[in-house]
Amino acid sequence: MAITAQFSALFDRSLQAYCEERSLNPTQLSEQQWYQLVAQVAHQAALQFFPKNTPLADTRKVNYLSMEFLVGRLLGNNLQNLGVYQYVVDEVAKYGKTLVDILEQETDPAFGNGGLGRLAACYLDSMASIAQPAVGYGLHYQYGLFKQSFDWAGRQYEEGDAWGRDFFPLQSHRADFRQAVGFAGEVRHITGDKYRWQPAWTIYGEAFDLPVVGYKGVQQPLRLWQGYSETAFDLAKFNDGEYLDSESMVIDASKITKVLYPNDNHQNGKELRLMQQYFHCACSVADILKNHLAKGRTLDQLAEFEVIQLNDTHPAIAIPELIRLLLDQYGYSWEKAWSICSKVFAYTNHTLLPEALEQWDQNLVAKLLPRHLIIIERINLELYQQVKACFSEDELANVWDETAIIANNRVRMANLCVVGSFAVNGVAQIHSDLVISDLFPAYAKLFNGRFHNVTNGITPRRWIRQANPLLSALLDQHIEGDWTQNLELLRQIKPLAENSAFQTAYAEIKQQNKQALAQVIEETLGIQVNQNAIFDVQIKRFHEYKRQHLNLLNIIATYQELKANPDMPFVPRVFIFAGKAAPGYFMAKQIIQAINNVAHVINHDPEMQGKLQVAFLPNYSVSLAEKIIPAADVSEQISLAGKEASGTGNMKLALNGAITLGTLDGANVEIAEFAGEENVVIFGHTVESVRELREKGYVAREYYEQDEVLRKAIDALADGSFAGGNQEIFEPLVYDLLNKDYFCVLADFASYREAQQEVAKRYQNQTAWLKSTILNTARLGSFSSDRSIRDYQTRIWKK
Ligand SMILES: *Cc1c(COP(=O)(O)O)cnc(C)c1O
Repeated sequence: MAITAQFSALFDRSLQAYCEERSLNPTQLSEQQWYQLVAQVAHQAALQFFPKNTPLADTRKVNYLSMEFLVGRLLGNNLQNLGVYQYVVDEVAKYGKTLVDILEQETDPAFGNGGLGRLAACYLDSMASIAQPAVGYGLHYQYGLFKQSFDWAGRQYEEGDAWGRDFFPLQSHRADFRQAVGFAGEVRHITGDKYRWQPAWTIYGEAFDLPVVGYKGVQQPLRLWQGYSETAFDLAKFNDGEYLDSESMVIDASKITKVLYPNDNHQNGKELRLMQQYFHCACSVADILKNHLAKGRTLDQLAEFEVIQLNDTHPAIAIPELIRLLLDQYGYSWEKAWSICSKVFAYTNHTLLPEALEQWDQNLVAKLLPRHLIIIERINLELYQQVKACFSEDELANVWDETAIIANNRVRMANLCVVGSFAVNGVAQIHSDLVISDLFPAYAKLFNGRFHNVTNGITPRRWIRQANPLLSALLDQHIEGDWTQNLELLRQIKPLAENSAFQTAYAEIKQQNKQALAQVIEETLGIQVNQNAIFDVQIKRFHEYKRQHLNLLNIIATYQELKANPDMPFVPRVFIFAGKAAPGYFMAKQIIQAINNVAHVINHDPEMQGKLQVAFLPNYSVSLAEKIIPAADVSEQISLAGKEASGTGNMKLALNGAITLGTLDGANVEIAEFAGEENVVIFGHTVESVRELREKGYVAREYYEQDEVLRKAIDALADGSFAGGNQEIFEPLVYDLLNKDYFCVLADFASYREAQQEVAKRYQNQTAWLKSTILNTARLGSFSSDRSIRDYQTRIWKK
């Protein structure tokens, strides 16, 4: 029976039962109730009608370990992938409901901070869609990423995100998949490589499975571990942890998965975070081994059937954990255990930022994971022998400084990952090159052939099909074959880039999407924006390296210019921001407040009405991204060159017809190559010229002194013009820019401003602009996460 017929039978039965239980008829159901019902039906359908994945002879199963999966709302996606979306649209219409409104009832599960977590979610979608056998392993946080709002002064305000899993039917509680996880305690040497670890306390992990429904593919689980303890215990015994300072976070074992740490690209070294990491790894590795053994296979065969992909270093302890099990539980020798282990793990590096490279205090590791520290020390010792054999005596000291896993009383997790993995990859070509040249040159020599690139991608099912139904319908009309399954088919619209009928259709879609976003902006912020203005979008986490303040300085300069020359020709512009700052990241929060304050002044200036407007939408999330992206004309990707590993927001925006205004950083480089240099706007220093700038000795203040436009913009931030005369509020931000400016905002200001003027100029020629945007859609098919997964298959996961 076709899925639709099976689905329709299940749907009818469930609707009847749901209504009978409540003594209601279907027309009386609220949208929330419809959501509950449709979600339950979809969940059952996914489990019952969709095949589970079985590995082919030449593939290994991928165990994707990630502390974050930013999945976003699932129901609409699952209905699409099940192929029953239109069926449900028609069914609920019979009762006067629209599916889009029903889907808005779903809470947006935010088990992630930003790009890294969203990447994991796109990869799960792609693996299920191209039938790469996989299990995603993560944590079932009780509180996802905080909710953001702005207070009266424009400051970020955070609230816990109790995402209400009690009303979240798209998961199954698998209480039977229980794992015990020990912490702290004593280690005794038994014989040879074998030790006995007697943990001081044990907690348990139980699994929640979210079925990932692939596009016309298979369903396979995202398995999320939640902690609980059988007996309450007193963590005060371990009372030198800083978390005890916080009254709102009285920790007991069952609270280990209570909250997602809200840091993006920054480590804060908290004990509870290390506990979460180990908990995640211990549950996942045990589950992998259990399933492997249950198939009648031996652990010697592990690498033939399984690969464990580490999404950044957060799950790095999985490496010593696997070795520990092989040695202490299964009786392998060190050599044998190491040989198995070093064929199983592959590591994805996501950052070069020093503050984001995880290092754990050796004493903390010794206390919480004493057995693992012994294993890490052994790996380090063997590494030293290898380094000594490979490098001359002159080189040795420097090489060991770079490669040692333990140095200055810190355990360096990236080093552990490089040494313990058979493959290491960066996430865009320029980033992968920098991993070799700047981060790990000695490792690259030592481990020849271990380093790779796999450029990130995004799933077209969510980021085009679901987010932009109008564009999808146009693509369906003009493309032969299913572009959702093979995004390279977008090439077929290349010849239409200059076709005026197609341009008109494409432009009308953009206009309708802008209208829909304008409505969201009005509902959220009470601002009516000019729908004919350029929608200029910067949506991403707030971080100094992403340089939202560079965007802001140009907005201030533009405002000042318009005030001084009210009649100058100007292409109207709406600057749209969204993004969260880590609660403890002072400078990022300053930038948020500054944008809100500038927005307030500009939006209340009658002279700016319909000319220059700034909309900062609160609480950036996957579902908000889905609303903003289809409406964007300009995609701001303005990080300092060398700092953004890849970015994926840049891909979503470009594919939806926004022109990239960016630096030569991360995947922008490849986007420019594929789209064509003439269809993007590139500005700013390059990796090489930043290096030269620093070698000369970068002095930010010189740019301030020599550039009047820049000076006036910064002065306006400093003199309280945007803060009701208060000169103190933005003093830290201004001081930092003038005296440090680690991310070279001032050095790129002039070039950025010119690029912005170039954008305005190009937009005035609508025919040329449309041609460019269409070519962006047509030429960027390779940024599908299906392509990324195939790269992983051929470069890394192959047998
Ligand atoms: C895509 C996405 C990101 C990543 O954005 P970048 O611009 O690549 O940093 C972050 N958050 C959400 C919700 C996203 O959808």
